[in-house]
Amino acid sequence: MGFFDLLSNDIGIDLGTANTLVYVRNLGIVLNEPSVVAIEKGSGKILAIGSAAKEMTGRTPGGIEAIRPLKDGVIADFEMSERLIADFIKRVVKRKYLMKPRVVISVPSGITEVEKRAVRDSAESAGAREVYLIQEPMAAAIGVGLQVDQPSGVMVIDVGGGTSEIAVIALNGIVNETSIRVAGDEFNDAIVNYLKKNYNLLIGELTAEDIKIKIGSAFPLDKELSMEIKGRDLVAGVPKSLNISSVQIREAISETVDIVVEAVREALEQTPPELASDILQRGIVLTGGGALLRGFDRRLRQETNLPVNVAEDPLTCVAKGCGKVLENFQFYSKVLEKSRRD
Ligand code: ADP
Ligand code: MG
Repeated sequence: MGFFDLLSNDIGIDLGTANTLVYVRNLGIVLNEPSVVAIEKGSGKILAIGSAAKEMTGRTPGGIEAIRPLKDGVIADFEMSERLIADFIKRVVKRKYLMKPRVVISVPSGITEVEKRAVRDSAESAGAREVYLIQEPMAAAIGVGLQVDQPSGVMVIDVGGGTSEIAVIALNGIVNETSIRVAGDEFNDAIVNYLKKNYNLLIGELTAEDIKIKIGSAFPLDKELSMEIKGRDLVAGVPKSLNISSVQIREAISETVDIVVEAVREALEQTPPELASDILQRGIVLTGGGALLRGFDRRLRQETNLPVNVAEDPLTCVAKGCGKVLENFQFYSKVLEKSRRD
């Protein structure tokens, strides 16, 4: 490591719809927080950003609102997105260093030019020297350790909070790409609706996420699970608890899971034949938090007859990919978009 390497604090950012991770060159992941901003209604004053703000979701008294500015994979709220990016960058950039960081940011692949500019501007105003954007599935593939410069294709499926991205990658580029706004958040919504409809039980978004993580599945489990959940009885209006099984939760989310599976099938149909045969050999890699849903890999294997592997630590692949790009900048320059002001 040279003198300038020690001084530099180049960073990679996985700007996710649910979680944002920041990787500092030669240090690794130093920040991993929900992409949530809590504001005071009326004044719009920011009260908290990240974990502290997520804890307020659904619990906030009337005057406070917890916002997820990137919720649907698009930048729904520019100003809040900017504040979030700027806050996270400032938290990790060591101000005593004079050199401004180079920043590589992974963005959901469906975002528009205007949204890209907003991302770049916020990174610049937070002190970045150069800002490069990378598409999320590309960063995920690099993070997983796939060779993206080879002619033979690989398929990456990243199931995050707001979007699922299905991409075939070859020769440093994304050959075909599908991005749908159905992912982890919709699994949570499906659980909320199921309990409301079948048990008159009202639960919050965070409880639904907890149920999904504890007993959710996309394929029958070798040993089915169950848990006690608490909510409010819609008829009596009082708190109520209920024992629920993984079989029921699987039923609750099955239609939503089907939408993702169907998108994968369509993406495979649109893949050029040569690349399709590569995928048959190299298989599909699952990344993003949704990859942790029990049996999701088995379900996809059954539907596609292809080898499907869950990436190691799927929640951090994209951030690690951004980090690898920083650490081998020349090598990976072909996969980057330098966003320009014009
Ligand atoms: P994004 O890139 O959009 O920020 P992430 O890759 O961080 O999304 O994934 C977040 C999603 O993954 C959330 O919907 C979360 O509920 C879900 N998730 C996290 N852990 C699990 C788990 N063990 N089982 C199922 N879903 C999970
Ligand atoms: Mg992501």
